[in-house]
Amino acid sequence: ADFSIPALRIAGISKSFHAGKNQKKALSDVSFSIEQGDFFGLLGPNGAGKSTLIGVLAKTVTPDCGDVSVLGFDIRRDWQQFKMAIGIVPQEITFDPFLSVWETLRLQSGYFGLRHNDKWLNELLEVLDLADKKKESVMRLSGGMKRRVLIAQALVHKPPLIVLDEPTAGVDINLRHSLWTFMEELNRKGHTIILTTHYLEEAERLCRNVAMLNHGRIAALENTRDLLKKYSKDRVVFTLSRPL
Ligand code: ADP
Ligand code: MG
Repeated sequence: ADFSIPALRIAGISKSFHAGKNQKKALSDVSFSIEQGDFFGLLGPNGAGKSTLIGVLAKTVTPDCGDVSVLGFDIRRDWQQFKMAIGIVPQEITFDPFLSVWETLRLQSGYFGLRHNDKWLNELLEVLDLADKKKESVMRLSGGMKRRVLIAQALVHKPPLIVLDEPTAGVDINLRHSLWTFMEELNRKGHTIILTTHYLEEAERLCRNVAMLNHGRIAALENTRDLLKKYSKDRVVFTLSRPL
């Protein structure tokens, strides 16, 4: 593998949403790259544009301009390779309501054209503590369990780049800690991780490098320690952070 190719490269991405007569610029000329193996935090208050940027990676949001590539695969030219290289855990939980946990994972495998990965799916259920929920309807699960199914779903194709949009928001302290351990373990195994959060403490604990988004613009881009040093006396930035 060529480690000089960035895990993610975002160049000049802008996106406006139309709301009646008004135009809302959700992303303004966003550019940055992430190295392979990084644990990268995308920070910013609510409405900063984090989920819109992740929507661009998921191809659910079409940017007005700009380029995106994962491991050198262009999102438009090389969509098949692009989608195999990235796993996205969205912020909003949505499932086909009529499926069981197992069927949900099988359906996702089918989407990637994978047919013989039951062993891996079982391992995923095991490590996410869902093995005994295999036959349960996804809609009957608790919020925390749904979140874990959503994570399993993003990993069915063993993507080298894993993007998680506020996976720990609104989950209880036990699950938050086990998700932290889980993400650290994935990173140790060589996966590149991108995590969005508005908890500064979470970024401080997990992320090597961070980008700070504010009103759709990159306000800072550096390693976590330097960012914290620079902003530790700045009350404004700490309004981002809520007690965990
Ligand atoms: P974050 O994830 O950082 O909280 P979002 O990316 O969800 O922020 O939202 C960024 C801005 O774009 C917000 O002002 C939001 O209201 C707006 N926005 C996001 N999605 C849409 C949409 N589908 N239609 C209109 N406005 C949107
Ligand atoms: Mg969001």
